[in-house]
This record gives sequence, C-alpha cells and structure tokens, in this order.
Amino acid sequence: MRILAFGPNGSGKGTQGTIIKERYGLDHIESGEIFRHHIKAGTELGLKAKKYIDEGNLVPDYLTIPMVVEALKKSNDRGWILDGFPRSLSQAKSLQETLQELKMRVDYVFEIELDREEAKKRIMGRRICAIDSNHPNHIAFDAIHPAEKEGILVCRVCGGRLSMREDDQDEDAINQRHDIYYDENEGTMAAVLDYRENCAARNIRVEGTGGISEIAEEILSEIEEGEAIKLRLKFG
Ligand code: ADP
Repeated sequence: MRILAFGPNGSGKGTQGTIIKERYGLDHIESGEIFRHHIKAGTELGLKAKKYIDEGNLVPDYLTIPMVVEALKKSNDRGWILDGFPRSLSQAKSLQETLQELKMRVDYVFEIELDREEAKKRIMGRRICAIDSNHPNHIAFDAIHPAEKEGILVCRVCGGRLSMREDDQDEDAINQRHDIYYDENEGTMAAVLDYRENCAARNIRVEGTGGISEIAEEILSEIEEGEAIKLRLKFG
C-alpha cells in the first residue's frame, strides 16, 4: 500500500502518519525527518540543508529529490507512507516520473485541511522526544500531552527528554513554511490540487480540527473501504 500525506505544517499529519504506518506495517518516509537526521549526523547533505530549513524554505530539489528517491528504493514490500514530499508542483512531477520508473503506484492521497492561524498555534506547542521523534507530544492536546516527572515535562510514550524544533519557534520560518504550503500556483497546494483532479488514487480529505483518534478513524475507514473495493475487483 502506498500513501501520500498532505496537510499544512502543524496539521497533525505526522501523528496520523505514525498511526497508519503502524496499522499496516508501512515505512514512514518523512523528508523533514531525514533532513534532521542528516543534520544531527553532520553529513554534507545535512550541512547544506540546514540553512534552508532554519529559514523555513524548501531545500533545493537537487538535494531533496535524490534523497527521497533513495528512501523509496529502499522501502519495504508492504509499502510506504510519504510525508513532506512532494511539497511543490515540480516535486510532484518528479515523483510521478520516479514512481513510473520504479513501477510503483500511489493508492491513497490523504489531506488534512486546517486553517493557517490554527496550524501556526499548533506548531508552537509541539514537543520532540529525544529518543524517538515519532512519539507525538503536544502541550495543547490532552491525548498526546507530555507526561510530568519531577516537575519536568517528558515524553508521554517513553519518558525521554523533550525538546522543541528550532524552526518551530521562529515565527518568520513558520510563516514562510505556510506561504509555501498554501501556494496554489507552484507550492504544495498546487500539487494537492493536481492530485485531487488528476490522480487515480483514492483521495481522502479530512478536517484537521477534530481529535486525533477521530481523524485517524476517518482516514482508516476510507482506506479500509478502498482495500475492500480492490479485493472485490480482484476476486469478483
Ligand atoms: P513541517 O513540520 O513544517 O511539516 P518537516 O519536518 O516536514 O516540516 O520539514 C522541515 C523542513 O525540511 C522544511 O521546512 C523544509 O525546509 C525541509 N523539507 C522537508 N521536506 C522537503 C521537501 N519535500 N522539499 C524541500 N524541503 C523540504
């Protein structure tokens, strides 16, 4: 199963991606996460990408695309959920070509819709677990509120230390990331609109203001329905 995840930064698409990945045993390919890994490891790619990320800009395609293609090539047979890519119309086109070459087809495109101001508020409240950055923690949501140990907030899943992403506390960087997301001409929304109209994959649009499990249920039930249709087509 292959899934593309869209949603403005702060919409909770990473949280939903983790739930879906666990349900179906998929690889969760997150471009932002791969960049952060490279930055932490001090690789050449990380050094080159950092300044763009700190400013909230897109890392140039010549660095981003080969990195994502490599992750797709290494992905497991059960499939993947791709989160954070494509982020522009040009990346969507290049993804289409790559998938054709790799003989892969996208089955579902999900999209979490959220108002820009709300998305911004949410970004500023999210916390990152030092042990596993896929453990969602957020000071504004009861369901994923960090735990407290000796008066300090720690990861609700594993008790690990929490930190904040630098680019999450810089309002200019957040605005820049949102400018790119909501840009319907060349940005991420341009890619989303293209998928809505031209992609054979099942399109799943959900409102991002609901609770985490409510949104997960909505997405998962659409996927289940899609899978049931596929089975019926295959076996009659
Ligand atoms: P967010 O939480 O804002 O969705 P991510 O963790 O997905 O952010 O990405 C963090 C940063 O990594 C982005 O602001 C951007 O600089 C860079 N990045 C991630 N994906 C891409 C991409 N597809 N193309 C270019 N840059 C990217």
